[in-house]
Amino acid sequence: MKKWIFSVALLFTLDIQDLKFQKMISHPHEVVPGRFSPSEAQYLTPEAVHAGYLSVKGMKIDGFSGESLKKLNTAFTLLEKVVNSNEFKDRVINFKNQSGLREFASNKGLTNEEIYQTFMEGREILQSNTPGEMNYYLKLYYNPFSRVIGYTSGETNLIHINWRFFKNYQPSNVAANLAHEWVHKLGFDHASAKEHDSAPYAIGYIVGDMAERILKSNQLIH
Ligand SMILES: [Zn+2]
Repeated sequence: MKKWIFSVALLFTLDIQDLKFQKMISHPHEVVPGRFSPSEAQYLTPEAVHAGYLSVKGMKIDGFSGESLKKLNTAFTLLEKVVNSNEFKDRVINFKNQSGLREFASNKGLTNEEIYQTFMEGREILQSNTPGEMNYYLKLYYNPFSRVIGYTSGETNLIHINWRFFKNYQPSNVAANLAHEWVHKLGFDHASAKEHDSAPYAIGYIVGDMAERILKSNQLIH
């Protein structure tokens, strides 16, 4: 039996039962993860942690064309810019969870800096021989009735993306979603779609927040 990992609710998901999700629709920035500041004892200077360089690579891109392909490529560019920045490093290693601790939920026993380094190594579980690369195998599908933004499983490189959400997304939302799914490819999971402190969600939120800022300030190099 395949274990499917559903990635619900990155940013604009509607869940009528859940007020928290309803808030996310109008106030997505409530979900911007916490971080320790340099004035706090737990703060770790980014210079203390080694960083590699990651290239974002579209390996197999299925179902995207025209505007959707353009949006995807902008998201790739944003993602690569974000993950290689010092700010991203700072925000991941100094991530503060909702209990005020410097650790991710469902962290497999790894510290923030170990998770950062695992991320920057770029060795997907199913493709560990390509360090330094974020390899993407994407398929666009359409389910107008589903609340699922995208999904993947631990048994395949392929990530499915629902057109229902993708069509309205900004490239920064797409970059956030891609980051979330890719953290799954590194073997990190979340207990539920509400585990905002998990590595897939928290890193996805960090990427989305930074990517949106880059988009707005037009710093994106075409
Ligand atoms: Zn997920």
